Amino acid sequence: MSGKLLVIEDELRLARYLQQGLTEAGYSVEVANDGVDGLHLAMEGDHDLLVLDRMLPGIDGVALLKAFRNSKQTPVLMLTARSQVEDRVSGLQAGADDYLVKPFAFPELLARVQALLRRSHGATATSDSTQLQLGDLELDLLRRRAQRAGQRIELSAKEFKLLALLLSRQGQVLSRTELASLVWDMNFDSETNVVEVAIRRLRAKLDAPFGKPLLHTVRGMGYVLEERDA
Ligand code: CA
Repeated sequence: MSGKLLVIEDELRLARYLQQGLTEAGYSVEVANDGVDGLHLAMEGDHDLLVLDRMLPGIDGVALLKAFRNSKQTPVLMLTARSQVEDRVSGLQAGADDYLVKPFAFPELLARVQALLRRSHGATATSDSTQLQLGDLELDLLRRRAQRAGQRIELSAKEFKLLALLLSRQGQVLSRTELASLVWDMNFDSETNVVEVAIRRLRAKLDAPFGKPLLHTVRGMGYVLEERDA
């Protein structure tokens, strides 16, 4: 996935490390090392996401975010020192979409960045269109209804969310990890079979009664929703 990111972080080594890692992951990355520059770049630019340290010289992260949120809705991932964990509430109240406690492993940050970007792309897509379709399967996001071959399919809230996600990205393989994070807000390394269980239930309702399966397992990779020739 590509995107324009702005990292606002005053610890130079960490800022460089994030810039390098995120660039290698395919993003274009700008860096600001204090709150004043950060706010200026954030307001001027058209970034897809901000990584914002909470403690900054000049304007601190929370004040920056409040000012920024007056005019922009760009997703913000806030970085918080462990000693300021209680402050994450004020960060979230100021309009952060997620936070990460320092020190963190880079893959954890990358997973959060990817999840936030997907969420914001997904939100844009659903506001444009409330109907998703694949073959004889139709999903009405507004009425929260699913039907296949004209027959109503009863789904739980999570099953609906899971199906909507797979359907909005039909033809793309989504890993168990991505599904756990996007549908259940669970950590990417979580040792749980909640995804498998939900996929099994969804198959029983979505595919079993209709003969031609749409939901496929890609061994070792994840799941994909698509029409395949028998
Ligand atoms: Ca700092």
